[in-house]
Amino acid sequence: MTERRQPSLSTDTLPTREAAAIELLSQVCRELDSIVFATSLGAEDMVLTEIIRRERLPIRIFTLDTGRLPAETLELIEVVERHYGTQIERYAPHADAIADYVSRYGLDGFYDSVPARQACCRVRKLEPLKRALAGQSAWVTGLRAEQSVTRAELPAREWDAANGLEKINPLADWSEHEVWAFIRHHRVPYNPLHDQGYPSIGCAPCTRAITVGEDVRAGRWWWENPETKECGLHRREFAPRQPSAHPAIERDRSAA
Ligand code: SF4
Repeated sequence: MTERRQPSLSTDTLPTREAAAIELLSQVCRELDSIVFATSLGAEDMVLTEIIRRERLPIRIFTLDTGRLPAETLELIEVVERHYGTQIERYAPHADAIADYVSRYGLDGFYDSVPARQACCRVRKLEPLKRALAGQSAWVTGLRAEQSVTRAELPAREWDAANGLEKINPLADWSEHEVWAFIRHHRVPYNPLHDQGYPSIGCAPCTRAITVGEDVRAGRWWWENPETKECGLHRREFAPRQPSAHPAIERDRSAA
C-alpha cells in the first residue's frame, strides 16, 4: 500500500461532490447499457474506480497499455485488481503499427515534432481506444475542467462525436483538493509517483516531475506549447483557465 503523504485538506464539499458523481453515474447506468470506464490509473481515475466498485455499478474498467507506461503504473494496475477484486482490461497497440512507427520516426521520435508525437499517440493510444469503445454506448473519464487549457469548458455529460458515443465526466467540476481529500478519506490506493512531484502521469518518456509554481500539466509533453498538449483522447477547444495547484506543490510552497 502506498504511503499517504498528501497534506490534510478540507473535506467540506466532498459529500456533495461525491453524491453528485454517484447520482450521475447511476443515472447513466439506468439509461444506457454497455458503459466503460477508461482509467489511466491517475488520481482522478482512482476516485472513479472506488465509486464504481463500491456502488457496484455495471461499468467495465479498461486501460490503454501503451507499452511505455512507468513501472509504478503497471504495478498499480495489479494493486487495484487485488484491492477491488476486479480485472482491468488492457488494450495494447498492434505490434505491426508500432514497428511501422519506429521504422519511420525512431522509438523516441515523438520528441522531434508535434506531428511525430501525435503519430505515436495515435498508434499507442487512439487506435486501442477505438477498439475499447467499439459497440459501447458511453464511456466514463476522470477529466476535470481545471486540469488544462484544453479542458476549461468541460461538461459532466457530452456527446463524443469523434467516437460516436456519450462521454461522461463525473469529476468535471471537482478541484484537485477534493480529489485528494476523497483518496485520503476512503483510503484509496494511488500511484506513488504523485508523491514525487508527478500530478499528471502518462507514458514514462513523456512525463516528468514538476517544480514549485509550474502548472499541473507542465510535466506532460513539456517540450510542446500548452494548446497542443493533448494525446487526442480528449482533445477540446483552447480556452483560458485558472491556475491550479497540486497538493504536493501546495505542500512544497508552505514548506518554502
Ligand atoms: S504519451 Fe508519448 S510515448 Fe505515449 S503514446 Fe504519446 S507520444 Fe507515445
